[in-house]
Formats: sequence, C-alpha cells, structure tokens
Amino acid sequence: MSENIERVKCLIIGSGPAGYTAAIYASRADLKPVMYTGMLAGGQLTQTTDVENFPGYPQGIMGPEMMEDFRQQAERLGTDIRFGYVSSVDFSSLPHKVTVDENKTILADTVIISTGASAKWLGLDSEQKYSGFGVSACAVCDGFFFKGQDVAIVGAGDTAAEEATYLAKLCRKVYMIVRRDEFRASKAMVHRTVNTHNIEILYNTETKEILGDGQSVNGVQVINTKTNVERTLDVTGFFVAIGHTPNTDIFKGFINMDETGYILTKPGSTQTNIEGVFCCGDAQDHIYRQAVTAAGTGCMAAIDAERYLAAKEHIVTA
Ligand code: NDP
Repeated sequence: MSENIERVKCLIIGSGPAGYTAAIYASRADLKPVMYTGMLAGGQLTQTTDVENFPGYPQGIMGPEMMEDFRQQAERLGTDIRFGYVSSVDFSSLPHKVTVDENKTILADTVIISTGASAKWLGLDSEQKYSGFGVSACAVCDGFFFKGQDVAIVGAGDTAAEEATYLAKLCRKVYMIVRRDEFRASKAMVHRTVNTHNIEILYNTETKEILGDGQSVNGVQVINTKTNVERTLDVTGFFVAIGHTPNTDIFKGFINMDETGYILTKPGSTQTNIEGVFCCGDAQDHIYRQAVTAAGTGCMAAIDAERYLAAKEHIVTA
C-alpha cells in the first residue's frame, strides 16, 4: 500500500468532547483509533473560558485546559491523534474512503463523525474581541457568570427564546434584540418569552457594537432600524443565539441529514444510514449541545463501532 493510502479499523473525525470520548473508548477496546482533529483542534470549548458544568472538575476549569486533558487521556490510552482536515469522503463501498488534506487516503472499517457544529456570529469585530469575556453563544454554559446582572441576547428563534427565559431566571434584566417586528420562534416559546417580566424585547433592533473596557463587556450599542434611534444598553453579558451550523457539508450525498444539515442517527444509537459510520456530538444534536452530552454520545459511538466490528468478525469466522 502506498504511503499516502492507509488502512485503519476506526477513524474519528473531529476532536471535541464527543471525538475524544469516542477515542478513549475505542482505544480501550483495542480498535487502534486514528483521529483527525480538524482545523479547530479541541472544538468549540477551546473558544470558551470557564467551564463549571462538566462533572469531575469541582473548581471548574478553563475550556482549552479541559480539552487538553481530554487529548492527553485519549493519547495515553493509544489514540493516534493527527492534526489534519478531512476534505472529502466516499462512503459508497466498504472500506470507507476518507481523504485528508486533499492528499492522503484513509481506508476505514468504521468511521466516527464528531465534527460538531459552529455557532453563528453577527460578525462584529467587538464580538470577537470580547468572546469569552462577556460575549457567549451559550446561555446554559455561561449564564451563571452573569447572575444578578443585566444582559442582552440577540436572536428570535426557539433557541433565543429558550435562552432568554433561562437567563431571566438568573439575571436581573434581559434585553432581547430582535431584528424584525416578530419572532421566528414557536408560538408557545414566544408566549413564554413575552410574559416573562424581566425580559424587555426590542423589536426592529440591530446590534451596532459591543462596548467594553478592554477587559470585559460593559454595554451594547443598538439601533432601531425603523426610527434610526440609537441607544446603549448597560449590560455586562451579550449572548448570541442566531443559530448554529453543523459541520457536516463533506458528508452530504452519503449521510442522511435533516434540512439544516444535522446528521440523522437511529434512535437510541449513533448508527447513521451507512453501515459502519457512526455520528456523535453536536453534528447530530441540535437540542442539548452540551459538552457532557457530546461526551456521552461519543462513548456510545465507540461502543457501537466495536460491536459492529465484532459482529462482522463473527460472521467472517463463523
Ligand atoms: P433559527 O434559525 O430558528 O433562528 C435564528 C434566529 O436568529 C432568527 O430569529 C433570525 O432572525 C435571527 N438571526 C439570524 N441572523 C441574525 C443576525 N445577523 N442578526 C440578528 N438576528 C439574526 O435558529 P435556532 O437556533 O433558534 O433554532 C434552530 C432549530 O432548532 C429550529 O428549527 C428550532 O425550532 C429548533 N429548536 C427547537 C427547540 C425546542 O423545540 N425546544 C429549542 C431550540 C431550537 P429572523 O427571524 O429575522 O430570520
């Protein structure tokens, strides 16, 4: 076999909590997993600061540090972790064919997809500058840090409505920035949001700038697009809830997905529509999107892969 073609038992694509947990389990099951990390090694958690809701860290931990712990654990148990980007796949026959960095071919008996999802951002420089220092794309992860404070959230879909009501329980006041004169969220969620006493909804409003003192957020400048009146909201937290994009483009045409690109798995398992291809983490979960749930499905994917290979071996040797 040429140097640029390699055969592996278990290939893991992506290196967030789902991928690393799959790697830990697959290593211990002797599947000799090879992992390609993707461009953002460690995944979304490397872009956060404190993580206080992952069990096992009583004092909390910084997101990048936690992912380094995951990586070391997977590596110690034998995962071959490589920095590289899967550029295309061909799941039309066995073994599965995966191209890395456009020049290396991996032939894999099983593939675990853990490519995650990316939060959509407004695209303001100030949003990037204060990301992790007052700007967050996950209220459930970071809302706690703004207990008793005033915050703003942008978005008008189900996620924004759900997160606004979540924040309203923790924070003194929540400004909800809605760009049109109506919500996109379901009626029930809208009802709950508009009836929460400490949520103020600003319709026809866009975010112009996130303000700060160089260290953290201390305000948000918004504009009413109907009246052109600008105003500054005195907030210490700014939450972006304008949707997520699952990182699944390269699998289109092979793997069944919903209309927004989330990979569909058989209920109660991580099995996709393709034999030997499993999916875990945010690439298949638009509901929970937590590190711990991603890790849980990563464990499931490795167990599913191991059982699949064991069943195949049994058929071959029987
Ligand atoms: P959606 O795509 O449904 O909503 C995104 C929202 O963000 C829209 O209101 C949109 O505004 C707004 N938006 C997009 N870009 C910008 C921008 N640049 N500036 C300001 N606002 C912007 O995403 P969600 O994450 O809310 O939901 C994704 C899917 O998950 C949906 O199908 C939803 O129903 C589902 N979901 C279900 C839940 C549940 O059932 N409990 C909970 C959470 C999500 P506009 O309306 O003007 O386009």
